[in-house]
Amino acid sequence: MDCIFCKIIAGEIPSRKVYEDERIFAFHDINPEAPVHILVIPKVHIPSMDGINEENSAYVAHIFEMIPKIASSAGLTNGYRVISNCGPDAAQTVPHLHFHILGGKELPAHIV
Ligand code: AMP
Ligand code: ZN
Repeated sequence: MDCIFCKIIAGEIPSRKVYEDERIFAFHDINPEAPVHILVIPKVHIPSMDGINEENSAYVAHIFEMIPKIASSAGLTNGYRVISNCGPDAAQTVPHLHFHILGGKELPAHIV
């Protein structure tokens, strides 16, 4: 499949890995928008939030179980923001479900 994040999981495209287990992969965003900007993705190809269903939601649950640990490991002791862009109106650019962890500074109070 011609998916950049599936290729990162497979090691076909290099990334700066932060965390990996049998279900999820986390790595630094190549174009960080905050001092810490990590992407967390499931190891199954889910195109976006709209693709979450009963069969794959355990991957998403596991992502949310691990996000606090990943954030803590990255030194985010004073809070962080988690974002997932879904579809054109949200400017989703990579069609593989991902959650942005942003932090390392005081972020703007308003997202839009
Ligand atoms: P989104 O706009 O929510 O789809 O976010 C996609 C994110 O993936 C952007 O923040 C990009 O900077 C990031 N990105 C794209 N290609 C790579 C890559 N090869 N390695 C790391 N991050 C990437
Ligand atoms: Zn994919």
